[in-house]
Amino acid sequence: NAPRILVTGGAGYIGSHTAKLLRLEGIEPVVYDNLSTGNRSAVRWGPFVQGDILDTARLVEVMEQYQPAAIIHFAASAYVGESVADPAKYYNNNVRGTLSLLDACRQTGLDKIIFSSSCATYGVPAVLPIDEATPQAPINPYGKTKLMAENMLADYAAAFGLNYVSLRYFNACGADPEGDLGEWHDPETHLIPRALMAAAGKIPHLEIFGDDYDTSDGTCVRDYIHVADLARAHALAYRHLASGGANLALNLGTGRGCSIKEVLQAISEVTGHDVPVMFRRRRCGDPPALYADAALAHRTLGFLPRYSDLETIVRTAAPFFGLEARP
Ligand code: UDP
Repeated sequence: NAPRILVTGGAGYIGSHTAKLLRLEGIEPVVYDNLSTGNRSAVRWGPFVQGDILDTARLVEVMEQYQPAAIIHFAASAYVGESVADPAKYYNNNVRGTLSLLDACRQTGLDKIIFSSSCATYGVPAVLPIDEATPQAPINPYGKTKLMAENMLADYAAAFGLNYVSLRYFNACGADPEGDLGEWHDPETHLIPRALMAAAGKIPHLEIFGDDYDTSDGTCVRDYIHVADLARAHALAYRHLASGGANLALNLGTGRGCSIKEVLQAISEVTGHDVPVMFRRRRCGDPPALYADAALAHRTLGFLPRYSDLETIVRTAAPFFGLEARP
């Protein structure tokens, strides 16, 4: 009998890539998703339950029915800008939703959870690279709700014996290397998909928010990590908990920062299309540079990215925007 994992938000971008990988590793992913932003057609590797994480009774039913060995909890609202405009939605879905899930776990005795956290919990760090001991001081409601959820996990672990791994993603990007799953957000606000849309002529140009930062070329620097690498880190985190490993909070990044201009350069090299750009003012709340110290995930889980160089990121993502990658 294959072990099962309950994957909340498994119809979303990172959740669906992770569900596929779990299946390849002999684990049955049971996807629980309200389809508010997820995509039903991305659920292809195990059972699907349409439900909301705020519905504790439903979660309890599903846990009793499927008897999962662990939960991977992706379901959340995840737009920084929207979280500023509508914090109620974020406190509700991300904080109350996670609390509801943890209470369902307590009721059913499910004691292993892997949680989607974010480098947004660090805010604007004083020192780079960002290691896990960097103070968490989020600067927007999205980051605050992710930090609150991390704190809930730690407190439930101390009081009730929950076992957890919190994974703090840097900039998730790329698409399934076999072409089964892509990146879709509506609206799409992320740099790499927007740049590919511009390269493909689907939007007139990419707006670059600020070229006067104190970075090597004036544009913001981020740590881009491929979604297939993120997926594998979740599988490793599950193995870690299943073998009795300690609770962890880990950065998932490459340890390398890339500027916006470097991303655009990679797109033109891989696809042969230049990205038309317009320079705009800085976007409110954007830190100039963010990149991880990625050593702890390597040390504790044996995790090393394999797909997270810019060329592979662009090569896997480009086909979803109607662009061919050069051989
Ligand atoms: N960015 C940009 N134009 C866009 C989208 C993003 O210049 O259309 C910049 C953004 O200001 C940031 C970087 O690209 O410096 C990465 O942004 P994204 O929204 O992808 O991720 P974030 O780092 O904000 O989570």
